[in-house]
Amino acid sequence: MNLRAGLTADGLTAVLLIVAAVADGGLRWPWALVTALAGLFVFSFIEYAAHRWLFHGRHTGLFARGHGHHHLNPLGHDALPFFLPPLFMLALAGLFALVLATDYALLLAGVVAAGNVAYGISHVLIHVHRFKSVRMQRWVAFHEVHHRHANKNFGVTSSLWDVILGTRYRPRVPRETHAAPTDVAPPP
Ligand SMILES: [Zn+2]
Ligand SMILES: [Zn+2]
Repeated sequence: MNLRAGLTADGLTAVLLIVAAVADGGLRWPWALVTALAGLFVFSFIEYAAHRWLFHGRHTGLFARGHGHHHLNPLGHDALPFFLPPLFMLALAGLFALVLATDYALLLAGVVAAGNVAYGISHVLIHVHRFKSVRMQRWVAFHEVHHRHANKNFGVTSSLWDVILGTRYRPRVPRETHAAPTDVAPPP
């Protein structure tokens, strides 16, 4: 129930922010595109940072406990009360508006909010859907590894910040065994 309410609230927030940005009438397309790309970039970092330092933080009480339940029971409740991400997105829009024109600030926050919706849907799919494509299975495996190694693979929609900040999981490769001389074929 909380999950559905969360996705609905997140979706409405993203639509509301983007519609408000467009309705303002001040967006010019090259800059709007740059802003949208910047929004995806900002989102990817927020996704990583929230997961690493909030959900797996040492002093983040309720958040860490809620996320701990998800690790034990991936199909159970989500970590956050549904109204928190929308409030965060609105606060973000306010913060962006301090340095950007209002329409671009709304667009930037709207794209971050849309990224958050993509994250929510992705995370559910990862845990419930059986993908046929190898590429998608690899994407699912990236997060499943995180459920076993909680200090690795914090990104869900992408591995970007795990690569940049060195938390991408690398399986230990057993030491290379050198071929014994007997393996070498004798000269004819
Ligand atoms: Zn998960
Ligand atoms: Zn986690």
